Amino acid sequence: MTTPRYLTKSRFKLAVDCPTKLFYGDKRKEYRDTMAENAFLAMLAEGGHQVGALAKLRYPGGIEVEGLSHAEAEAQTQKYLRCENVVLFEPAIRVGDFFIRIDVLVKSGNQFELIEVKAKSYNSLSPNIEGKRGGINSKMLPYIQDAAFQTWVLRQAYPAAQITTSLMMPDKAQLAPVDGINQMFKINENSDVEVRIPHGMDTKALADTLLAKVCVDRYVEQILNQPLDLPGGPAIFGDAVASWAEAYLNDQRIVPVIGAQCGGCQFKAAPGDALKSGFHECWKMANGWGDQDFDGGTVLDLWNFHGKQKLIDQGVLKISQVTRDDIGEFDDESNVDGLNRKQRQWLQVSGIPDTYNCGGFYFDRALAAVEMSRWRFPLHFIDFETSTVALPFYKGMRPYEPLAFQFSHHIMEADGSVRHDGQFLCVEPGVFPNYRFAQALKDALDKDNGSVFMWSHHENTILAKIIEQLAEDTSRPDNAEALTSFIKHLIKGGDRAMVDLCTMAEKTFFHPDTKGGNSIKVVLPAILKVSDVLREKYSQPIYGSPDGISSCNFSSPDGFAWIEIAKDGASSDPYAKLKQLAIDMISSGSREDEGHDSIIAEGGAAATAYARLQFEELDDRSRERICSALLRYCELDTLAMVMVVQAWQGMQTS
Ligand code: SF4
Repeated sequence: MTTPRYLTKSRFKLAVDCPTKLFYGDKRKEYRDTMAENAFLAMLAEGGHQVGALAKLRYPGGIEVEGLSHAEAEAQTQKYLRCENVVLFEPAIRVGDFFIRIDVLVKSGNQFELIEVKAKSYNSLSPNIEGKRGGINSKMLPYIQDAAFQTWVLRQAYPAAQITTSLMMPDKAQLAPVDGINQMFKINENSDVEVRIPHGMDTKALADTLLAKVCVDRYVEQILNQPLDLPGGPAIFGDAVASWAEAYLNDQRIVPVIGAQCGGCQFKAAPGDALKSGFHECWKMANGWGDQDFDGGTVLDLWNFHGKQKLIDQGVLKISQVTRDDIGEFDDESNVDGLNRKQRQWLQVSGIPDTYNCGGFYFDRALAAVEMSRWRFPLHFIDFETSTVALPFYKGMRPYEPLAFQFSHHIMEADGSVRHDGQFLCVEPGVFPNYRFAQALKDALDKDNGSVFMWSHHENTILAKIIEQLAEDTSRPDNAEALTSFIKHLIKGGDRAMVDLCTMAEKTFFHPDTKGGNSIKVVLPAILKVSDVLREKYSQPIYGSPDGISSCNFSSPDGFAWIEIAKDGASSDPYAKLKQLAIDMISSGSREDEGHDSIIAEGGAAATAYARLQFEELDDRSRERICSALLRYCELDTLAMVMVVQAWQGMQTS
């Protein structure tokens, strides 16, 4: 039996983003879809399914519609809706080629309340549905559009009913009344949520407290009555969804209208990918291009450039076609503050001018020297791993409040010697890590007054948050004052304020491979390409060896080499190596373990691993393996910062 080809909620969301995406959306075996691959991780990290399960607790007596097929679910829904009053979870509504499953539908006689549950942070004390300049806030727009589509379908199905529409979201204005709320909603391998509520708990009150229900009727009417802003131009809502449903039914590709939105297209395959690239097909169709036309990059690759749509509208599609006027006015000379945004963009377009060329890259030696002269040895390199989940782990916390559960710490002495000096990891279920984390950081950094380095401002944000938590906590620890004072020295404005190496990279360093980007994972491979100092040092097995660089997690008598130099001179990427290491380290375990490992190997997904470690049924072996992978990954993040500084130090003298 073939599956009916209905326009569903998820297909509507694809089409409203770009109608051509409908064609690629359900061909995962044929086309690369990066979003589908990340969906499980994102769901775990944000806790979307957990929020859905909590929302149902607001409606004791609600009935789950469980039909396996579209037709069964639809028949069940119709049967239940014959009742005068009923609350349904996941009811199936179909009209023609439109089919939706509503999160919660409350029917009271002729009145329907359609509730869309979202793991989107909302603050009932400062609602953010409207933007500053009126209209719907762009961050809320996709959620309102989604709710509007469902309302539109429900209206077609029940034209005589009075329908209201609400969004239900975790409310950041509320405090968790008890410990362990997150752990009450365990996600299993099938992405289902097992609800394990302690005996005697008032679950409705819990859901009422943590979830805000916001009526969005006014905004839904705006969406339904004003033209939709689509890549191909404005369209009336009803006309647009009808044409999408027809195209999807017939598996027709809607003619691509390329634009700035293509920069975030999830159907883009990297060179050499076995799967097809929807992005490349679209740009070839729209522009009559061949494969070679992508060489050198498109305007979508321009770093932090806000005029991409304008350029595309003018027919400027390749980076090589961009002119200096397109970038806007700027000085040629680097100024005392280093490279600005437009100068970096122009370096990306025009290449490195001879005056600044250090051998295929740009480095402002003078400015870097001034910055470095302010540093105090020993230098401390720190990196944090944190978690912000919808449902709090601990009493007194708000939805999406950050937990700081891990840091790594490297030290560089004035003589250039480096060691991995320490680390912190607190993943014990039910233990609030933030104050322990702050104390461990204090112990690590308080021994001297050396400069402390972070990459980007995340560390500053987290430490500032811990000060707030200490101030608000009615059962704050005895060392609260000492911790607050220590943190105040470290954060912005403090007399030992952390130095942001990312900002320094942005101001002083540019390599074409980075495409202007400044994340450590982009800068490190680029700098390894051009730094003889790093290539010589880290291609040797010095890391973790007794007379090399000491390490908390990579110690071995033979040492460990972070990079390999190929015959053509190319150096490997340490992050890629660690990903493989983590997989090797854990893949001999159960299927469940393999899942954990690949999550950590993704990098930046440590928060997901933390969420899983809060579920107590993990056996000790699995737990140890995940912790070991977390520690290794975080250690590389601070080592990468050390490497970048060593490269810059080497460039001062070369
Ligand atoms: S490449 Fe552009 S036009 Fe094609 S599907 Fe993606 S966003 Fe749409």
